[in-house]
Amino acid sequence: MTSSYRGRIAPTPTGYLHLGHARTFWIAMERAQEAGGQLIYREEDLDPQRCKREYADAAIEDLRWFGCRWQEGTDLGGPHAPYRQSERHELFLDAWRKLKNAGVLYPCDKSRKDVAHAAQAPHRENEAAEPIYPETWRPPVGVGQEATEPGATNWRFRVPDHRKILFDDGRLGPCEFECLRDFGDFLVWRKDGVPAYELAVVVDDAAMAVTEVVRGEDLLISTARQRLIYAALGLEPPEFYHTPLMVDPSGQRLAKRHRSLSLRELRAAEHRPEALRQSEDWWSGLEDG
Ligand code: GLU
Repeated sequence: MTSSYRGRIAPTPTGYLHLGHARTFWIAMERAQEAGGQLIYREEDLDPQRCKREYADAAIEDLRWFGCRWQEGTDLGGPHAPYRQSERHELFLDAWRKLKNAGVLYPCDKSRKDVAHAAQAPHRENEAAEPIYPETWRPPVGVGQEATEPGATNWRFRVPDHRKILFDDGRLGPCEFECLRDFGDFLVWRKDGVPAYELAVVVDDAAMAVTEVVRGEDLLISTARQRLIYAALGLEPPEFYHTPLMVDPSGQRLAKRHRSLSLRELRAAEHRPEALRQSEDWWSGLEDG
């Protein structure tokens, strides 16, 4: 059975993958299989400082050990060459140009630290997941319009004032976010010449004709931002399905600090992927292991 469903798994090779990543990718694979569609593998290796080939290779090996299979995007998976974002710069640059010409971008010289600092100011009513870029720092509309290259500056997307972003998530149902309340003007291009995640992911999901994006719930607000990019580029957004995040028994999100839960370590400790994939009570299973 084949269908037009196209999903993707898109790890960032900045460290070894842990069980939380693997479970999200497993769900992505199951959804593609249930729909009789294709799954794409894409390396999100944009950041030359933080991404390493060693981790990218380890991710493929570890996910295969876990049981994940895909049809497109690595030498292992079908006829297609690996999809590596680091090799797709022109595509991202082209999107930067389109967005800039559409008048939704501006150059910005504030650092992440500046924004974090400003967001701590006491007048903020809502606690956002990430610091909101202050409206008062926005340049007048039109600034940066003459640029032909991003150059050595950051570029932000000017979000429409108080626009509500509504979408139906495949697992969570109706979701609603409001610009300038839940998130502010966000980065699309970095001054070191690297496209930001929000831009690259939209460009690639569209270029690869992805019909459903399956990823962790921590990226829900990113989905709202990305829908603005889809609209500004005149592209139809895919469906979205956000998976629950794995937490440890103290309620903490799994992160790279949980070294013992990296797929590498689990494999070295001879855990069985079948047990790790399905068990609801995964943590106690590990402690016994
Ligand atoms: N590369 C991102 C990550 O590893 C996932 C991006 C996405 O699924 O949209 O967190």
